[in-house]
Parts: sequence; structure tokens; C-alpha cells
Amino acid sequence: MPVVLTSATVMGLLIALAGTWLLSGEARVNTIGIGAALAYLAGGVPAGWRALKALRNEHILDIDLLMIVAAIAAAAVGAVVEGAVLLTLFSLSTAMEERAMGRARRAIEALMELRPETAFRKTVEDAVEEVPAAQLDVGDIVVLRPGARVPADGTILRGRGALDESTITGESMPVGKEPGGKVFEATVNLNGVLEVQITKSLEQSTVARMIALVTEAQAAKAPSERFSAWFGQRYTIAVLVGSVVALGAFYGLGRDWETALYRAATLLVAASPCAIVISVPAAILSALSAAARGGVLFKGGAALETLAAVDIFAFDKTGTLTTGRAEVTGVVALGNNETAFLSTLASVEAHSEHHIAETLRREAARRGLVLHDVHDVKAIPSAGIIGRNADGPVWAGNRRMADMMGASLDQDALRVFQDGAETVVYLGSETRILGAVSVADKLRETSAGALAALRASGVKTIAMMTGDRWAVALRIGRALGLKPDEIHAEMLPQDKVRLVGEIAEGRKVAFVGDGVNDAGALARADVGIAMGAAGSEVALQAADVALLSEDMERLAAAHRLSKRTTSIIHQNLILALGAMLLLVTGAAFLELPLPLAVLGHEGGTVLVVLNGLRLLNDPICNTRRSMADRESIERGHDDKALAGASTQLRNAVATTTRTPQSRSD
Ligand code: ADP
Ligand code: MG
Repeated sequence: MPVVLTSATVMGLLIALAGTWLLSGEARVNTIGIGAALAYLAGGVPAGWRALKALRNEHILDIDLLMIVAAIAAAAVGAVVEGAVLLTLFSLSTAMEERAMGRARRAIEALMELRPETAFRKTVEDAVEEVPAAQLDVGDIVVLRPGARVPADGTILRGRGALDESTITGESMPVGKEPGGKVFEATVNLNGVLEVQITKSLEQSTVARMIALVTEAQAAKAPSERFSAWFGQRYTIAVLVGSVVALGAFYGLGRDWETALYRAATLLVAASPCAIVISVPAAILSALSAAARGGVLFKGGAALETLAAVDIFAFDKTGTLTTGRAEVTGVVALGNNETAFLSTLASVEAHSEHHIAETLRREAARRGLVLHDVHDVKAIPSAGIIGRNADGPVWAGNRRMADMMGASLDQDALRVFQDGAETVVYLGSETRILGAVSVADKLRETSAGALAALRASGVKTIAMMTGDRWAVALRIGRALGLKPDEIHAEMLPQDKVRLVGEIAEGRKVAFVGDGVNDAGALARADVGIAMGAAGSEVALQAADVALLSEDMERLAAAHRLSKRTTSIIHQNLILALGAMLLLVTGAAFLELPLPLAVLGHEGGTVLVVLNGLRLLNDPICNTRRSMADRESIERGHDDKALAGASTQLRNAVATTTRTPQSRSD
């Protein structure tokens, strides 16, 4: 519909111009009249409608109103062609603006379309049926062939494979997954046949949450945006009043009534704040979309603007600067039965969310150990975990935990670990130590590079805060090139919260964590940034910015994007204000013709929008390349599947009982 109206407006203007240039006499007057009437109607009515809506719903005078007043004033003094030029260009630039903003807004919703139409669900008889993906329920088990898209978030029950998660994390490197691993809707299983149990309904899937978050972020106004809207409103009234005053002044200075009105209308257009009002949202919307495609979710324009001003970055260590996927490097079982010791340890840790616990569970699984029941479990943040098994109370944790339990670590057998620089987990029963394991975590490959990039882009202070031992913290800190005073260890969660406040000293701080034990610091910081947040509800909730991937470089890229966004906002405001000053000067003192004022005004608006839209292509990630890669990978794998790489699957599909619903859908 708007396209039709805009075209009609353009058509009207062309007819009026043709009349002006080609005809004479009565034919000229009639043609101009018809053309101008068409342009006024098709261009003016929608603008008038919008002006009314803004007045009624939001009680604001918007720019549409200014344009209509100017067009009416032009018509009143017989300058209908100029009026038609005004309405046509205004209508064109509004249409363009809406399209551009819509593009920025919808960039993320395209993710929805990547959800597959159907899925292969296992039936109770162990057969496989094809059902519409929308009919999957939590608890269903689906079979994923190589090349298949994941129909809903779930956990792998059987099979191993590499998944392309670039749709969610923006990362093009496939991620290896094994039983117990989480898979996300709309990602692609590249190889291996996986059996996945659905854990989330479509409305609660990671993709749906992402889209909801981005949509909310786009609706929330950034401070500068609120300012430009507030300013725009005050200013619009000022322009209206100013134009009336100018009308009086022109008249008082000896112009005839018609010239004075024409000049006042020109001034009105020249002074209209279209470009100023759109300059901020155009940049912010584009940046939010670009970031989301790179797996970086800003919870709003405010987080984007604040991040640009951040020059202190505080990091959690485990699971943030390090991968959190540690290896067991040594075991000392004081009772001499290593198997029983490790089994007890893993049984306690089975109840913990901590990275270390996962490492210990994995080690137990690798050794094929049987776990036993532990109940009344309680996690003690930054210390460990305590519970009861058949033999009585058991606990696992660090030195702090041992101290809390009154257990002495002063034993020769434990000395090997205490002198080293690895994380040590003690297992004890009340005051008796049963043994210890040492665990070594790896730095993320991208951490050092990201810290260097942050420093290069003007970050003054970097701090690492960890609940781990000093020895480990110093080793990791040195590997990252941190100065000794930038390393803080053996902290409790509340120590991190306090220190984040202390190092700020009035400057803006970002805290980067993984959401395990650091929700407080994430909330305390000016900008809380969660790493690897895909699938982690806590991290998504607590943070202002969520990095869905585990790629630390993305953090530096997000910081760069935020800086680039503020600089584009500044460019836009300068451009918009500069253009307006020039036009106003021209209109007030230099007899600037109305059509030129209109051209300058609309041209400025379009430029500002286009400048903001540049952010939409910010290389915050390499999604585009990976899209192409994925397409070819998918095809390759499909061929292989057809060639009989997975007979098991085909047998399964052969027994498929197709449900009637799946055919009708
Ligand atoms: P970080 O600040 O490095 O992310 P946390 O504050 O989460 O670390 O934990 C600090 C320390 O507490 C760990 O290094 C570990 O020694 C101990 N710890 C916490 N939870 C557990 C657990 N479930 N099992 C064993 N040790 C634990
Ligand atoms: Mg942590």
C-alpha cells in the first residue's frame, strides 16, 4: 500500500512538472492542478494520518505535521509544484527509511526460517516417524541424520557428531558433541547419526529467546535515543512557533504577504529535525542486528552505548578466560583404593553445576566407574559441595572448604599438589581427608588475542578475578600477559562484586563471566557480559550482553562495534545539525527556494539512515562465509548419506510409519 501511494505521489509530481515545462495557457494550469492534487492527496493523506495518530496516541507533534503545514502554506501562495516536490520527496524518504529500519529490525528473525519443517521422531516401538517439527514435545526423542537441522533444543542421548552452530553463535568452526551434550534448534548436524531428546518447547528454545531478546532490545530506547526523541519533540514545537514568528518578521520587513508565507514555509522545512530524530535509531538498530547475527546479544541500545564508554574490563577465570573443560592430571587416594575414591568424588560432584564437577564426572565416566547415591546436597560457592552418602557426610572442594570442615591438609601425601600450580579438589568425610585430585584447565585460544585487542582499542585496566588458588591464578594471568596487580585470586562471589565496585572509581566497568557463581558481579558492573551463554538461562538473564559463542575475540569485536556505533551516531548528529544550520541560514537570509530546502532536508535524512545502516554489515563475525560453507557441507553430507554412509538410518527410515498429520502439513 505505501508503495502504491508513494508511486502515485511521484506520478502527480511528474505530471505537474510536465505541465510546467511543456504546456502553456489553460492546459498548463489544468495539468499542473491535476498533478499537484494527486501528489498532495497521495503524499499528504498518509502523512496527515500519521500526524493525527502521533497526536492522539502519544500526544506529540511529529514531523509529518511540519511537512503538511509547509505544503499547505506553499499551496496557499500558489506554489503548488513546490508543495508537490515537498510531499513527494518526503514520501519517498519516509518509505526508504521504513524499509531500511525494517531490514535492520528483521535481520535476526530470519533465524526462525532455519528451523526444519519436519523431524524424525522415535516411536515407542523404536521405529522412526516423520512429524512436523511444530508437533515435537519435550521428552520426545528425534533421530538426526548428517546434514539435518536440529528441530528443537535438546540433549544428545546417543551418537557423536560435529555441529555447525553458526546460526546461533556466529562461529563457523564446527563444534564436536557427544552424549550429554546440548544441541540447539536451527543448528546443523554435520556428521554422525544423533539421537536427541528434546528438552525445550519451541517457544523456549534458544533461538526463540534470542529473537525475543533482540526484539526487546530494539524496542528499549537507548539514552541518546530518548534524548533525540525528547529533543525532537521540543524542537518541533519551536520550529512551528519560529516559523510563525518568521512569517511576521518577513512581513514586517516589507515583503508582501505571499512571499512572507513562502519564505516561512521554506524555513519550516529547512529547520525540520527529520535527520536528527532518525540519526540515533538508524545506527543502534543496525548495530543490534549485526551483533545478534554474530552471536552477541545486547539487551538494548543502552548496553551498546555503555560498552563503548567502558575502559575497565574485569574477567572471571574458570570457564571464561579458560575453557572450563579441564583434565584430571593427578590423583592421590589416601585409602589406597583409587577407584573407590574417584567414584565417591564423582558421586558428590554429580550434583554440582561447577566446571570442575563436570571434569570429574567425565573422568569417572571415562574410567567406567559406577556412581552411587548422594543426598542432602548443598553447594558452597567458591568452596565446594557437601552431601551425605551411605557412609555418612562427604564433601569435595578446595582449601577453603577443607578449612570450613576443620580438616587438616598438612599431610605429606598431599604436598605434591600444594606445591604445584594446578587446581586441587579435596574429598573428605567430616574432618578426615580421603584424597585429592589435581585438575588443569586450558586457556581459551582466543583469550590472549582478545585481551590484546581490548588494550589496543583503548581499554586501560584489565583485571582477572577468580575463586581459584593464587598459584593457578598467577600462572594463567602470566600466560595472558597480565600485570601482577591485575590478578585477584581466592575470592568469594561477594568479593568479586565488591572489587568490581572498587576498581571503577567513577569509570565504567564491564564484568565478563560465565554465569557460574558470578551473577552478582555481572549485575554490579556497568555492563555484565556473559560468555558461552547459549543454553545457559542464568547467564542470559544476568547479563546485559550475552556472547552465545565461546570465542573471546567476539568480545573485542563487540567492544569495537559499540565504539563504532557511537562514532557513527556522532557523525550522524553532526551531519544532521550541520545540514540543518546551512539550510536554515539559506532559508532565512539567502532566498533559498523551497524545492532546494526540501532536497537538502530529505537528502540529509537519507544520508543519515544510510550511514547508520553501514553498521548492519559490521564484520563482528564471519557468519556470511560460514553460511556458504554450510551449504556446501550440507550438500556433501547429503550425498554421502544417500551413498549409504548410514545404513542404520535408512533401515530406521524404512520402518517409518508416516503419520497422517505429517502428510497434510
Ligand atoms: P572462578 O572464579 O575461577 O570461576 P569459582 O568461584 O566458581 O571459580 O570457584 C572457586 C574455587 O572453588 C574453584 O577453583 C574450586 O577450587 C572450588 N570449587 C567450587 N565449586 C567446586 C566443586 N563443585 N567442586 C570442587 N571444587 C569447587
Ligand atoms: Mg566461573
